[in-house]
Amino acid sequence: MMRDVSDGKINCVIVKDLSRLGREYIETGRYLRRIFPTYGVRFISINDGVDTAVEDDNGNNELTVTMKNVINEAYCRDISIKTRSALDVKRRSGDFTGAFPVYGYLKSEEDKNRLVPDPYASNIVKAIFRMRLEGRSAARIAAELNRLCVLSPLAYKKNNGLPYGKNGYADRADCKWSATTVIRILQDETYTGTLVQGRRGTPDYKNKVVEAIPASQWIRVEDAHEALVSQLDFRLVQQLRGQDTRTSPKEDKVYLFSGVLICGCCGGRMVRKTNRSGDRVYHYYHCPTGKKKGCHSPVTVKESELIRCVSDLVRGYIGNIATLSEMMAGTELVRICQEKAMRYAAQIQDNERQLEKTMEFRSRLYENLISGNLTKQEYTHHKQMYTRRAEQLQASIAELRVKAEDAMAGLEGQSVWMERFLQFEGMEELTRSAVVQLIHSIRVVSKKELEIKYNFDDEYRELMELLASAQSRKAG
Ligand SMILES: [Zn+2]
Repeated sequence: MMRDVSDGKINCVIVKDLSRLGREYIETGRYLRRIFPTYGVRFISINDGVDTAVEDDNGNNELTVTMKNVINEAYCRDISIKTRSALDVKRRSGDFTGAFPVYGYLKSEEDKNRLVPDPYASNIVKAIFRMRLEGRSAARIAAELNRLCVLSPLAYKKNNGLPYGKNGYADRADCKWSATTVIRILQDETYTGTLVQGRRGTPDYKNKVVEAIPASQWIRVEDAHEALVSQLDFRLVQQLRGQDTRTSPKEDKVYLFSGVLICGCCGGRMVRKTNRSGDRVYHYYHCPTGKKKGCHSPVTVKESELIRCVSDLVRGYIGNIATLSEMMAGTELVRICQEKAMRYAAQIQDNERQLEKTMEFRSRLYENLISGNLTKQEYTHHKQMYTRRAEQLQASIAELRVKAEDAMAGLEGQSVWMERFLQFEGMEELTRSAVVQLIHSIRVVSKKELEIKYNFDDEYRELMELLASAQSRKAG
């Protein structure tokens, strides 16, 4: 339209009301005061009773236009906030508000705001997570899916007439799976049953550019829909990501210890090297950091020795867990969980008492200000201090409550992480899958000393403490 105005094809612009012309006061004003008069265009807004050809002696017309503009802008902002908060409410109650469910889910037939597993694609997603936990890289998983002629997510959605987003999938042009597509699936929390929304949005009503929103402001609702992968498995997969990306970029293959071996001197990730002398081939791991960058006594270890040593240690650890698991069988376990919950309950009570005191102190501050015991400055300072303290206490009470609940529901949780170790009981050789699922990291202190940090070691330690306290109580 503006081109027609500047070309002189239009000499009158009629709108129903001002909000049609432009949502922004400044922009609307510019048209009315500058552009239209410049081109000799008459402007009429029917609902607002504005006609630039009819102007009263006092120039009141422009004033009403200005006022109207301001009101319009406020109205637009209001509408924007309203729709925004309506969406937020839906999201907070676990409603799916997006247009395109992720691969593996469909919108439920009965309730368009719920996700349900897609009977076919959900199995592919499960297989992807399983393969990852067996130690395969994203590239190898993609290759395997292509070998099995599984349609890529985008191709699958197109093929089945399902809705899909424009930039949703990093599919390759030939509709094959790529490592990127696999990684995107492996990182998506949606598959644990948690709905994460509001990851991208427009910062305010004026700015229509979609931006990434900080993670702290995302809306997360757990158990919003059926999970395709357990929280434990998901956590492990995320941990693996950190390990594998730190292997040498030249290594596309993932070795037994890729990513888990740490140099005891500098903390760097050790890499695998191959040595040939004559017909003898042997592999070893070394730290690539070097003296210049601060690694002073790098250790080199033979892979064969590592395998022998780590296998022994892991077998021993699994043995411990087997014993623990037996001790916990039956009534013992219930008692332990109750004990744990009781501990948290005591901590909660303690925090609540402190909170009560803090609030009491805070409420007395005003009296002290009035009676002159405190200056205005001291009053503000103390008030802020007590408010902050109260907030901290409230947060820690909330956290403890969750822990206490977990402890009571924890019977199942305990056995889940232990099962993970016990599945490798009696293993003959150390596999990548075992390394990945059981070991967090191995620090190579010297040729003769290794420090293994196992997965779930917090759970392990906590359990040991509880058992010890349960035992001492029995003795006493
Ligand atoms: Zn080093």
